[in-house]
Amino acid sequence: MRRLILYVLLLALLGGCAAPVDPDTARESIQVLAMDTAMLITTYGERSVPAAYACEDTIRDLEAQFSRTDPDSAVSRLNNAGGESVEVEEDLGRLILIANTYHQWTNGALDISIAPVASAWGFTEDSFRVPSQEELEELLRLKGRPQFSTPGIVTSVSLSPGQSIDLGAIAKGYAADKILEVLQEYEVPRANISLGGNVLAYGGRPDGTPWRVGIQDPARAENPNAFAGVLNLTDSFAVTSGGYQRFFEENGEHYHHIIDPATGYPADSGLVSVTVVADCALPEYPGTMCDALSTALFVMGEEQALDFWRFWKSSKTPFELVLITEDGRVVVTEGLVDRFTQEEGSGYDYETVS
Ligand code: ADP
Ligand code: MG
Repeated sequence: MRRLILYVLLLALLGGCAAPVDPDTARESIQVLAMDTAMLITTYGERSVPAAYACEDTIRDLEAQFSRTDPDSAVSRLNNAGGESVEVEEDLGRLILIANTYHQWTNGALDISIAPVASAWGFTEDSFRVPSQEELEELLRLKGRPQFSTPGIVTSVSLSPGQSIDLGAIAKGYAADKILEVLQEYEVPRANISLGGNVLAYGGRPDGTPWRVGIQDPARAENPNAFAGVLNLTDSFAVTSGGYQRFFEENGEHYHHIIDPATGYPADSGLVSVTVVADCALPEYPGTMCDALSTALFVMGEEQALDFWRFWKSSKTPFELVLITEDGRVVVTEGLVDRFTQEEGSGYDYETVS
């Protein structure tokens, strides 16, 4: 907000001497460090500058509610409430409700109450360790959906004593949904919003072609420009979850941050990354859907992920997938075939599924 006020003041000071903005070329690009992620917001058009800073404000406002490491956040208050009911703002109430819904639809593969397990592995606080089987079993008993005091009304939530939640798997997707609302409010004609593995390709590129969204090659994760393929997207969310993004190694084992809630261990499903793509004009928070499903389908593995995709295809919020498997295949669902470009020489076998 302060940035926005400064910007308005600056404009007022410059007054008549400011050059008129060319709506075709005007562009603003800002980097935002939030939600443990380096984000890049690029907006276009006459109002590109205030729109970009309004996007930043939205991210910061959501981070202040959703953070698990900020002791003053609403999520921390809920996690520390010892089972008491806590009043929450609209966004947090809505996001917990959405999380509960995907928990049900994914048969528990998305589970925000996995927080104590994620902490035991040290993924929340960057103090990595391998917990014992007994410790994991103890913590897994704390799983369960948060409860709303009055069904259907999402203003006050309670957890069971000892329980805590972690919104890391869906917070950036929800932020992307809220950013879409900001872009529409500011009538931005095009934008490229990159919140780590969550991308919103809004409109197309200034030359009229689609945005090019690279899918990171997990085998060359140290090089951010090494891709397993490129998606050509307009008006879409694309979210990638992968076991190569956040991990540690101990005694030759690779332990990553996506937990299988059935075992308490990092998911070992044969997938190395999952990208979920959906039209941003869909109803019901499609950015959050992509983020929730990228994590959940990673846990489920190829076969179940593709069954889920087929089942979901005829719903009002269909999505498409790019799966990268441990055995070196890139599996692209049929709706993306025309929008996916293989990366020559990457060594993958490319497959299309219908
Ligand atoms: P990223 O945050 O790297 O974009 P994801 O969207 O896949 O990746 O979210 C992973 C984060 O979500 C983890 O860091 C952890 O906080 C949390 N998490 C891990 N496993 C699960 C799970 N099965 N269900 C819900 N949240 C999870
Ligand atoms: Mg996710």
